[in-house]
Amino acid sequence: RMKVAEALGATRATEVDTNTTGVLFSDVAGVDHAVVQFQEIIDIMLGDPRYKDIGATLPKGVLLEGPPGTGKTLLAKAVAGEAGVPFFSANGSEFVEMFVGVAAARVRDLFKKARASTPAIVFIDEIDTIGRARGKTSGPDNDEREQGLLQLLVEMDGFSTKDEKVLVIGATNLRSTLDPALLRAGRFDRICTLGLPSMVNRLRILQVHARGKLICRDGDEDYETDALLSRTAELTVGYSGAELANLLNEAAIIAVRREKPEIGMSELEVAMEKMKLGLARPPLEATDEKRKVAYVEAGRAVLITANSPAVPDVLQVSVQPRGNRVSHVATVPKERDGATDVQSYDDYIRLMSIALAGRATEEVVQGKMGVTLLTSPELAEVTQMAVRLVSQSGLHPDFETLVFEEEDLMSYPKAQGKVDAAVRDAVEEAYRGAMKMVKENRPAIDALVDLLMERDTVYGRAVREIVKNSETVTIEEEEE
Ligand code: ADP
Repeated sequence: RMKVAEALGATRATEVDTNTTGVLFSDVAGVDHAVVQFQEIIDIMLGDPRYKDIGATLPKGVLLEGPPGTGKTLLAKAVAGEAGVPFFSANGSEFVEMFVGVAAARVRDLFKKARASTPAIVFIDEIDTIGRARGKTSGPDNDEREQGLLQLLVEMDGFSTKDEKVLVIGATNLRSTLDPALLRAGRFDRICTLGLPSMVNRLRILQVHARGKLICRDGDEDYETDALLSRTAELTVGYSGAELANLLNEAAIIAVRREKPEIGMSELEVAMEKMKLGLARPPLEATDEKRKVAYVEAGRAVLITANSPAVPDVLQVSVQPRGNRVSHVATVPKERDGATDVQSYDDYIRLMSIALAGRATEEVVQGKMGVTLLTSPELAEVTQMAVRLVSQSGLHPDFETLVFEEEDLMSYPKAQGKVDAAVRDAVEEAYRGAMKMVKENRPAIDALVDLLMERDTVYGRAVREIVKNSETVTIEEEEE
């Protein structure tokens, strides 16, 4: 029986590459902290006397942790490439098998090959599939998986890195599910986290992938190469390295389709749109309905833009149906480590006003009876904001020191009544603010609606121009 397992283990042998990868650290951008660590490990691996003389030995395992597409595989390959050693890679799921003994045999086989050509790197992607905590899951393949995991532990414990220079690199996006035995000293005892890239690192990743691509140099409208890439870096909050690479490639394809010699900002914008918003459906007919939709979105986009930088920039406003939405305003998502701009009660009310922009625009343009279901979700959202303001923020003048939990309110009906009234007042105050801002910015909103009727999608740049160049109407507070 073991013989069969060995055979299966060997024949379906994982992708083995006895040459090195040819990938270098310069191909992986924005992971300096990891590169420093790995450079040290490579020096030990290649027998740098500084480490040898002092008696330092090679660590056995490094765990790369991070969301998909953040360069874990690429980095592991770069470690092999920089060291000039062979790279043996496998995916954790390949070790999860129904057949008795196969998983363990595959692990054994992988390590046998690596040890035969040390120094070498063994890379196990999605190590969580084989390395899930034991006893936490069940199922027909579970025993088999545990056998595979045990074999992996045996292999890692079994070699001495003094004479067998094998470095095991594991990758996972689910470290918390890993069996603690894997993380013990002498196994994956070094952990290196690759997060989603910050703006600076997004720029560096874009620069890596811009190599060998033709990118507009002498300005596409107002952008030059570096400005163009840094603007793209600004707009791609939340993109992984893999998504950035994709984005540039999409843009290149779009440029060819448009018969342009180079990638410009406009191609990048369209590529982003496609990646984040889904495919376009046929445009709306130029009817009154479309104009109503355009007013709602224009009101939102103008109020957001007029309040910049307290709120994120508008990326585009559109009445072009996409995915399952008829229209939308897309904004630049906030960088997670960015400072919050909500500091005071007034700031908070202002954010609530901006969130009510669509409904207020409908009322200003079409009258009280002209409001539609299109903007109803704004009210639900703003009511939630008001509840947080009153009961949890400690900012509301009447509730400064009172921070309630939902359950507390249940047991104090009196407080509930007071909170309800304050919530209503706050929403009304915000709505008055929204009406005032809409009236003040009416010329810009009208201009944007005209442009939307014509072009369907208007980009942030153009919206900012319109807001900047339109006059604002002075509205007295008491006009309500
Ligand atoms: P992971 O293993 O974390 O899921 P990969 O290493 O497979 O991610 O990344 C997929 C592709 O995305 C890479 O081949 C590369 O083209 C690109 N990429 C991801 N991260 C980076 C980065 N930090 N620098 C340059 N390119 C990257």
